[in-house]
Amino acid sequence: MPYDYDKCVAVVTGGSSGIGLATVRLLLESGARVAFCARNESRLNEVAAVLKRDFGDDTVLTQAFSVLDRDAVQGFADLVHQTWGRCDLLVNNAGQGRISTFEDTTDDDWRAEYELKLFSQVLPVRVFLPMLREAGGAIVAVNSLLAYQPEPHMVCTSSARAGVQNLLKSLSVELAPEVRVNSVLLGLIGSGQWTRRFAEREDQSVSRAEWYGALAEKKGIPLGRLGEAEEAAHAIAFLGSRAASYITGAQLEVSGGLSRHI
Ligand code: NDP
Repeated sequence: MPYDYDKCVAVVTGGSSGIGLATVRLLLESGARVAFCARNESRLNEVAAVLKRDFGDDTVLTQAFSVLDRDAVQGFADLVHQTWGRCDLLVNNAGQGRISTFEDTTDDDWRAEYELKLFSQVLPVRVFLPMLREAGGAIVAVNSLLAYQPEPHMVCTSSARAGVQNLLKSLSVELAPEVRVNSVLLGLIGSGQWTRRFAEREDQSVSRAEWYGALAEKKGIPLGRLGEAEEAAHAIAFLGSRAASYITGAQLEVSGGLSRHI
């Protein structure tokens, strides 16, 4: 087993694709039972069917909803409690970035982005907290290097992500000693938006490795490539595991060295 999640229950938001899905799979391989959500029900069901085949029917629990729907998030926590009676790890991963400069970001865009970034943390933490406290559990938030290294073409995402890091630091103090709170700061991971952009590339003859390699060079990533979803999942699984039992309020960068701050 990659990590020790024996007898543990983990919850992953946005588990039907990319980093969330890689995390769900790694946690299952590590012995956890995993509950996860996403909005698109058919994709969620497809993914759940594969995982149940690989790991067993009683190891996977899914529900389709948006993490911004307060009642649905509460309903999901109730379902996890009724089914498994505990929650040892909450991974707040659901979301996406918004590409816009200050000049083309409207007031509604700002509100939507702040709502997504902040409430995708606030709502799940609030409803899973009683179970996390009881289990002596952990929260891992999936955040971005943009929190510290803002990009002008992602102005509102960068700003909202900085707010999330600040919130997580407060949580790590308020929820201690029962619950640990950590985050991963991602650079460019070859999932989500990058998979979609690769699919839409101008020259369709260019391979994934070539396209990602050129992108890494343009962005100045020292390791010379984009990260894989599985590499982000390892950082998440480690921070949530007993191996990280003395780590709270920390941020782990998964960026191939893209970070320039020390
Ligand atoms: P993907 O698009 O591959 O996966 C996102 C997952 O979140 C999907 O399962 C999606 O399913 C779900 N999701 C999105 N919005 C919601 C919502 N409101 N409620 C519930 N589920 C939701 O993206 P990645 O795996 O690449 O990204 C995962 C996280 O990492 C995101 O928060 C992203 O912003 C962040 N990140 C990614 C980076 C990267 O380079 N890939 C860089 C920095 C941060 P559905 O659409 O069906 O809801």
